[in-house]
Amino acid sequence: MEQPVLQWQAGTVTAIRPETLKTKSFTLALPKWMAHRPGQHYDIRLTAPDGYQTQRSYSIASAPERVGELELTVERIADGEVSPYLHDVLVLGDRLEVRGPIGGYFVWEVALGGPLLVIAGGSGVVPLMAMLRHRAAQHATMPTRMLYSSRTADDVIYRDELDALAASDRTLEVFFTFTRQPPAGWTGYRRRIDAAMLGEVIQPFDKRARVYVCGPTLLVEAVANALVQMELPTEQIRTERFGPSGA
Ligand SMILES: Cc1cc2nc3c(=O)[nH]c(=O)nc-3n(C[C@H](O)[C@H](O)[C@H](O)COP(=O)(O)OP(=O)(O)OC[C@H]3O[C@@H](n4cnc5c(N)ncnc54)[C@H](O)[C@@H]3O)c2cc1C
Repeated sequence: MEQPVLQWQAGTVTAIRPETLKTKSFTLALPKWMAHRPGQHYDIRLTAPDGYQTQRSYSIASAPERVGELELTVERIADGEVSPYLHDVLVLGDRLEVRGPIGGYFVWEVALGGPLLVIAGGSGVVPLMAMLRHRAAQHATMPTRMLYSSRTADDVIYRDELDALAASDRTLEVFFTFTRQPPAGWTGYRRRIDAAMLGEVIQPFDKRARVYVCGPTLLVEAVANALVQMELPTEQIRTERFGPSGA
C-alpha cells in the first residue's frame, strides 16, 4: 500500500524528562496527530538562521493510545549535530519541525500476536518500548520477552517502567545484560548478546517467536545472523539499525 506524502508540522515541546545521563525523553503535542504503529519513527528537521537544514529519524517511544502527542527518547551523541541540540538547547514550549509517522516494516501491534521477543541494544530500546507500552495499554497477554543490552546499570533507559511492567504481568519477562559494569551483586548476564544467550531467552518460544531487534549496527547484525543460524524463519525477524557504533 502506498503511503500518503507526509507533511512537515510544528510540534510543541510539552515535557522534557531525563531518562539516563545520556538520554532524554521529549513529549511533543502535534496539531495534526495521527495514530502510529509501534516501531515507526518521525523525522525531525532543524533549520539554522542561514537556511541550512538537517534532519534525523527518531523512533516513537509512546504508544498510539496516547492521543494527540508523541514521545521521543534521544541519546546524546557527543560529537553529533542534532542530538546535542535537542539535549542542550531545546526547552519547554519550543516548536520542532517533525514529519511522520514513517515506516511499515519494523512494526508490531497486538493484532500480529506472539510469542514476541524484542531485543535491544542501548537506545534501540525506544521503538521496542512503544511495542510494550501498546501491548500493556491493550491488556494483551501473548507471551513476551525482552532482552536488553546496556553498558552499565546507569545506561538502562526506562528501567523503572520495565521493572513495573514485568512485575505486574506474568506474561512479560525482561532480561538485562551488561557489557561493561554490571550492578553490584548482579547474577544475570554480563556480556554482549551471543548465540548461547539468545538460545536461552528464545527457548520457550522456540521457532514460533516473532523477533524485533534494534540497536547499533553490529549488535543487530550479530543477533540477526545468530537467529538465522538457529533456523528461525526469516520472515519472523525484523531489524532496525540506529547508527554506526558497535558498542
Ligand atoms: C529509523 C531510525 C530511528 C532512530 N531512532 C532513534 C531513537 O529513538 N533515539 C536515538 O537516540 N537515536 C535514534 N536514531 C539515530 C538518530 O537518527 C541519529 O542518527 C542520532 O541521534 C545521531 O544524530 P546526530 O546528528 O546527533 O549525530 P551525527 O552528526 O549524525 O553523527 C555524529 C557522529 O556520531 C556517529 N553516530 C551517529 N548516530 C549514532 C548512534 N546512533 N550511535 C552512535 N554513534 C552515532 C556518527 O557516525 C558520527 O561519527 C534512529 C535512526 C534511525 C535510522
